[in-house]
Amino acid sequence: MKHLDQRRILLVHPLGYQASAAKADIARKANLMPPLGLAGIAAYLEERGKKADILDCFAFPLTAERRLKTYLEILKPAWIGFSCTTSSFLDGVRLAALAKEILPGIRTLCGGPHVSALRENLLADYPAFDYFVVGEGEETLFELMEEPKNAPTTRGLALWNAAGEAEFSGFREIGLELDNLPFPAYEKLIGFPKTYRLPIFNYPKAPNTSCISSRGCPYSCSYCDRSVFRRSFRYNSAAYLYRHLEYLKNRFGIRHVNFYDDQFTFNRERVEEFCQLLDAKPLNMTFNCAVRAEHIDAKMLTMMKKAGCWMISLGIESGDAELLSRHRQKVDLDFMAEQVHLIKKTGIRVKGLFMVGLPGETTSSVRRSIAYLKSLPIDELNVAKFTPFPGSPLYEKIHKFGHFNEDWPKMDCMSFQFIPKGMTCEELERLFLEFYQTHFKQPRILLNYLTMLKHSPDSWLRFVANLGSFLNFARHSNSRMLK
Ligand code: SF4
Repeated sequence: MKHLDQRRILLVHPLGYQASAAKADIARKANLMPPLGLAGIAAYLEERGKKADILDCFAFPLTAERRLKTYLEILKPAWIGFSCTTSSFLDGVRLAALAKEILPGIRTLCGGPHVSALRENLLADYPAFDYFVVGEGEETLFELMEEPKNAPTTRGLALWNAAGEAEFSGFREIGLELDNLPFPAYEKLIGFPKTYRLPIFNYPKAPNTSCISSRGCPYSCSYCDRSVFRRSFRYNSAAYLYRHLEYLKNRFGIRHVNFYDDQFTFNRERVEEFCQLLDAKPLNMTFNCAVRAEHIDAKMLTMMKKAGCWMISLGIESGDAELLSRHRQKVDLDFMAEQVHLIKKTGIRVKGLFMVGLPGETTSSVRRSIAYLKSLPIDELNVAKFTPFPGSPLYEKIHKFGHFNEDWPKMDCMSFQFIPKGMTCEELERLFLEFYQTHFKQPRILLNYLTMLKHSPDSWLRFVANLGSFLNFARHSNSRMLK
C-alpha cells in the first residue's frame, strides 16, 4: 500500500476488557505498570530509523479508541503491533480488526506470551492478525518492517506461507545482548512517570517506576508460562543497570524503582557490583526486587539494604510442602522461613507471593498456607488465583486435575477458572478471602500500615482517595470480573 508510511508502527497495549469496567477495576487503581516491553521495542526500532509510537489502552481506557482512530487517520502507519496476554488477546483481536477497517492495507501483528505459546495454531481463527511474533520482538519486528517480502524466512514469526498453510518460521537461536539495547522509550508513554503507579504500600517514594534488568528464568515451575524467553536467562551488567537508574532519575525524577525481573539476584556478582556502584556514587534512590530464597544470603542482603533495597518479593506459592513439591523444584519451607527472617533482620520489607487453586489443592492445604503465612514476619501479601496459561507445563494436562473453563478474557489470575478436583469455586473464593483477611487482621500488620504514614505517605494519599473500592475488595474480591 503506497499511501501508508512503511517506516511507521503503532504499538498497542490493549486493556483486555470493556473500557466501561475500567473505573471499577481495583487492580488498575492499585497497580498500573508501564508497558515496558513495548517501550523497549519502540526504542530499538527508532534507533534503527523506524518511527514507533505507543498507545497504552490500559492507562487511558476511555480515550484509547479515539486516539487509535486519530493516529491511523493522520499518520497512516503501515504497521500496527499488539502486545497481549491471554486475558487481553481477544481485545487485541477486536482492535486489530478495527485498525483494518480504519486503514485497509495496514499490517497487523501480535506478540506476547499468549501468541508465543499458541503460535500458528491461532492464525486461522483470528484473521484480524497477519502475523504473530513469537518470543522476543525487537529483531523480528525490525526485520519484518525492513523487508516484508522476507517474512517467511524471518525467524520468530507465525504466518501464512505461499501454499496457504499456517506455519512458524522457527525460534531465534541467539538472544539479544541486553547491554546493547537502548533504554526503553519511556518518553513515548503519555504522562510518564505520573500516569503509572506501583502497588499501593509497595514503595517509599514517588515518582517511581518498574524497570526490567534481565530476561527469562532458568527454573521450570509447573504453573509458569515461559514461552517468550523460553529457558534462557540473560541480564544487564551492573554498570548498565547503574546508568539506567541514573537516566531514570535525571530525566524523569524517578526516586524508586521496582525491578520487574523474575530472578534479580540470580547472578550474585552482578548484584554485588551494582550495590558497590550505588555505594560509591549514591543516586539516593530505593528499589524493590523479586528473588528465589536460594539466591540470597546475609552478606548480599546487607549490601542490598545499604544500596537502597526497600522491599523483596518471594514466590512462596503454598505453605503445604507436599503440594508445592508437585509443582516446583527444591521445596524446603523451613529454609524459606529462615530466609524471610533473614530479610527482615536486614531491615528490608518482605512481600510474600502465594497462589490458591493449584492442582492438588484442598481446603486443608490452603489452611496450611494461611497458617504458614501467619507464622512468618511478612509485610505485604499477594495471593494469585491459579490460572493454567497456555505455555505453562500444566496447561496440556490440566483437565486431568479438575475442571478448567478456558475463557481467555477471564484468565487474569483474578478469578478461578480452574477448580481442582474435590473443590468448588465458592470454597476457593471463601478461602481466598480468608487468606487476605487473616493477614490484614493481624495487629502487627495494622500497626505496620500506620508506620507507612511516615514511610510511604504517597500510598496513604492513594489509599484514602480510593477507600471505598479497597473496602469493597476486602469484602468481595475484585469487581473487574463483574462487568
Ligand atoms: S515461577 Fe518464578 S522461579 Fe518458577 S519458572 Fe516462573 S519465573 Fe522461574
